[in-house]
Amino acid sequence: MAGKPHESTREAATQQEARPERAARTCPWCGSENVKLAQRGFTGPTDERDQYISCQDCRRLTYEIVSRTAREMRLGQYRTGGSYRDSLRQTKYLIQRVLKVGTNEVLLYVKPIVRPPSAYGAESPRRGRY
Ligand SMILES: [Zn+2]
Repeated sequence: MAGKPHESTREAATQQEARPERAARTCPWCGSENVKLAQRGFTGPTDERDQYISCQDCRRLTYEIVSRTAREMRLGQYRTGGSYRDSLRQTKYLIQRVLKVGTNEVLLYVKPIVRPPSAYGAESPRRGRY
């Protein structure tokens, strides 16, 4: 009589890792996979309007989406195929897509322009102040 009731073990079914496929991001500057994505629209420590990844190894920051106002768009003359310069970090991006959202906001989808090491020239003399 006392047959053990076969309880359906459903732990496996529900707990299966259902993590959304995340694009493996790597730091374009040093190639590290040790990067952290700051997603646009997420309420974080800073209310981010831009989307970017930050590298834990070389500490650089790489934009993926840059938010601009309509006015900044006019001033910067940003357009698809053009370039976006992050003067703060001395990096340059190719604008892949320009998307207007809302009445006064434009998103620039950018891709970093990574210069091959050869482009730097071998041991170029450093300029005094850096
Ligand atoms: Zn890096």
